[in-house]
Amino acid sequence: MKCKRCRAKAEVQVRHHNAAFCRPCFILVFQRQVQRSIEKHRMFTAQEEILVAVSGGKDSLALWDALIELGYRTTGLHLALGIGEYSHVSTTKTVDFAHRRHLRLITVDLEAQGLAVPTLARFTKRPACATCGTTKRHEFDRMAFENGFKVLATGHNLDDEAARLLGNVLHWQVHYLAKQSPVLESTHERLARKVKPLYRVTEYETAVYAFFRGIDYVVDECPNSVGATQLMYKDTLNRLEAVMPGTKLTFVRDFLTSGQPAFSAAADGAPQSCDACGMPSFGTLCSYCRLRREVETKQLMWQPPRAASDGR
Ligand code: SF4
Repeated sequence: MKCKRCRAKAEVQVRHHNAAFCRPCFILVFQRQVQRSIEKHRMFTAQEEILVAVSGGKDSLALWDALIELGYRTTGLHLALGIGEYSHVSTTKTVDFAHRRHLRLITVDLEAQGLAVPTLARFTKRPACATCGTTKRHEFDRMAFENGFKVLATGHNLDDEAARLLGNVLHWQVHYLAKQSPVLESTHERLARKVKPLYRVTEYETAVYAFFRGIDYVVDECPNSVGATQLMYKDTLNRLEAVMPGTKLTFVRDFLTSGQPAFSAAADGAPQSCDACGMPSFGTLCSYCRLRREVETKQLMWQPPRAASDGR
């Protein structure tokens, strides 16, 4: 197999583009795809500084790497979620990545604040991923605002977007369909524009890019992801993709060009401000402040179980 660009020996085949590439050409093509998405959707300009949400996984580190290689000014933002060994490894990989490349990284340690994801889930009796999602959204917005960033980039790839779209369509979540876009403009003075420059590249391409670029990322999945509906949707889409290469890209691309505008009327109006933290909210308190208050109240009421040997 020969590289489509330079005719050298190919190292990777990209079936949905019906093409194969050698290592240098694949890296170039990947970065060009990212650049094209940024320009097509006017995500940001070369003059803006981008806050990149980095988990320590392949997608976010590949995104950060590609943005640097494309010449953008970036700062990383990492949330240490407090999910045991998984979080420790994720934080270590992220810090190492930033350190080796002399990049600025902001880290928020939720465990040190007593607000680790397992703590939130235990005290509220909600699924870990629900409390994690609320926390991530709030902390990303808060850190972007407090550090003066107008743009927040996340590493969502084509597989993520296709799986999310499938879930939203299956359940006709029109509010979510209205918001499913590679760019979400700010609707509040404290809200940064949210962008997904990897939305056109697959998880496979991102993994290959990370490997070719020598990026050391956390390989294990979060233990809370076991049995997640999102993974089921991804699996279903992968099976379709195997027999019909290009399905994921067509599904997402055609939704954005012809389907999504039909749902725009279902979009939420502009949010007000949370009475407690001042961040965007659709009620008196934002969902994060409500979550936090619930945890803090229950922590105050919580009595540790008595030891069997205390004799009473
Ligand atoms: Fe958070 Fe759930 Fe993702 Fe784990 S799987 S990082 S708990 S959203």
